[in-house]
Amino acid sequence: MGLLGIIVFVIVLVAAVGLFARAVYQRYLILRLGKPEDRFDQIGERVKSVLVYVFGQKKVLDEAYPGLLHVFIFWGFLVLALGELQFFGEGLFPGFVLPLLGHSPVFFLIQNVFAILVLVGVLMACWRRYVVKPDRLDHNPEAAIILSLITGVVLTLFIADGLRAAMHPAGSEMAPVTVFLAGLFIKQGWSQSTLNTLYYAFWWIHALIMFGFLVFIPYSKHMHLIACPFNTFFRSLSPMGKMLQPINFEDEQETLGTQKINDFTWKQLLDLLTCTQCGRCQDNCPAYLSDTPLSSKRFINNLKDHLLECGKEIGSGNTSNSSENESLLEKSLIGSVITEEELWSCKTCGACQYVCPVMIEHVPKNVDLRRYLAMEEASYPSGVDNAIRSLEDRGHPYKGTMASRSSWYRDSWVEDLVKENNKEVLFWVGCTAALDDRNMKIAQAFAELLKRSGVSFGILGEKESCCGDPARRLGNEFLYDCIARENIELLKNYKVKTIVTTCPHCYNTFKNEYPQIDGEFSQKYQVYHHTEYLAQLLKEKKLTVESSFTETITYHDPCYLGRYNEIFDVPREVLQNISGVKPVEMQRTRGRSFCCGGGGGGAWTEEEGVRVNHMRAEQVFESGADVLCTACPFCMTMMNDGIKVKQAGQDKVVKVYDLAEILEIATQKTDI
Ligand code: SF4
Ligand code: SF4
Repeated sequence: MGLLGIIVFVIVLVAAVGLFARAVYQRYLILRLGKPEDRFDQIGERVKSVLVYVFGQKKVLDEAYPGLLHVFIFWGFLVLALGELQFFGEGLFPGFVLPLLGHSPVFFLIQNVFAILVLVGVLMACWRRYVVKPDRLDHNPEAAIILSLITGVVLTLFIADGLRAAMHPAGSEMAPVTVFLAGLFIKQGWSQSTLNTLYYAFWWIHALIMFGFLVFIPYSKHMHLIACPFNTFFRSLSPMGKMLQPINFEDEQETLGTQKINDFTWKQLLDLLTCTQCGRCQDNCPAYLSDTPLSSKRFINNLKDHLLECGKEIGSGNTSNSSENESLLEKSLIGSVITEEELWSCKTCGACQYVCPVMIEHVPKNVDLRRYLAMEEASYPSGVDNAIRSLEDRGHPYKGTMASRSSWYRDSWVEDLVKENNKEVLFWVGCTAALDDRNMKIAQAFAELLKRSGVSFGILGEKESCCGDPARRLGNEFLYDCIARENIELLKNYKVKTIVTTCPHCYNTFKNEYPQIDGEFSQKYQVYHHTEYLAQLLKEKKLTVESSFTETITYHDPCYLGRYNEIFDVPREVLQNISGVKPVEMQRTRGRSFCCGGGGGGAWTEEEGVRVNHMRAEQVFESGADVLCTACPFCMTMMNDGIKVKQAGQDKVVKVYDLAEILEIATQKTDI
């Protein structure tokens, strides 16, 4: 290439890189709008996350078809990027050979193969987007532009490389596409000069498409190419159960909760910039699937649009004091970017963030916004206000119950720790198991199993109160904080070293959230969910299965046990201990289990239209199971109701049991 060509190339390159860098810098300045947050611990673990989730594409591959097409395009582009050095170098300086890779036939072969994979990936993407048209994908021109640019990059690379090989085949012998195209061009009988002109024409088209792509990236959803490695590096390394950050009420707070975009932390803002709009979250969101106004994908993208609007002029140098910009930053998100109805539709089930391939954390953002509504405006949907008032007045969220916390065990052998402070194992019963008729049976079954195993345990009886989980999920962090501190103080009066509960919400609160308030909590107490405790008793042979169970059982993973604490296998192993059990999985299972609709305050909000528990009940019937086994009192209530409603017209009757109830029956000496 002549000097003029090199100068033009350098000008275009500098312009493209400059525009790219400017846009990326603007987005960096946008992140600085956010509040501080420390995500710089465990650097080794963070680097590993990038290797596994970005380069290894681990989460992306959770879904075979979209995962595979993404891997083809992602890895194809990485390999092509290496080859671009040789491609551009050779065009600019004929005879240029990149050390090691330059004219290596193996590298040319690899490049050819990966370029083909990129095209296969593009075809798969087009099929999915324009023929299958899944609901979760947006139909906007952005995707078409990106797919066209990618196709353009590969095709021009192939053609330019074929023309080059037609003139100088060095190194291309093993590259099938290059050899084929070179042969085709030679057959045309073109002169060296025509081949050379055509080569440079395609070389330039390729360069311009590449530069166009570079500039387009930060302005499109492909911003994730830059943001995703960072978002993955800074991802939460704790279990999902620890994702809510406590508020220190002793510090003076400007606003409680999140009202404006800059009330979020920089990491929460980085989440927004990282969204690829893949829609996986929405596909697994019970709120969206049950036709509420909430879509987890829209939630993130509406916030992102608002953030970009706020940050549009930041960094342009002339509007940092713009009143328009300031007023956007001052804008309350609730009402303008997200409605109250959307916020209260969330079940906090965590399915969205469990499946998100770029590690976006949806639930804390929702709860932070709820905190503002709850603590600054005392605004709750109907039903929830009663639960909060009941929590404040009675220490449990059930307004109408006539039962007391001693109803389920009154006159039985269960020992009240308050009278006999001599036990190290506390069975924390929880509000629902203590006060709801159906759930009392679970408390009774579990207590019976403990007795059968010879475990010396006690309960707190009337001294027990709510663990605080409903208050926290409903945004009333202050109430949660008070309840948690009272419970932590209460427990100090006893010799208790082990806390076991049948409720995943209590479990999660003790295991993950009380230690945020009392740093020594997890050293003082071993916290178990009853499924874990029962598995241990079986292992130690303190419990023995005496009878067989001949029915088909499907296990429903409670969100706060499964996704929040990664306890998926233990309950299934307990069931497998029972001879004759025929396990069957529902289609949505384990990490992708479908919420029962009871979490995040769902047990108290009034659902209109399609109900989440009815949808889950349909999934139970589809599985063909005779028995639905669960391990959560909220799930028990919601699924019992759902199964009753959906039972009509079914050819089999499905029974709903807690795992403790099944084991209580199986450890008796009669076959079922
Ligand atoms: S937590 Fe559950 S209900 Fe809420 S947005 Fe995520 S998937 Fe939807
Ligand atoms: S939040 Fe995550 S899962 Fe949802 S659309 Fe964005 S990238 Fe996809």
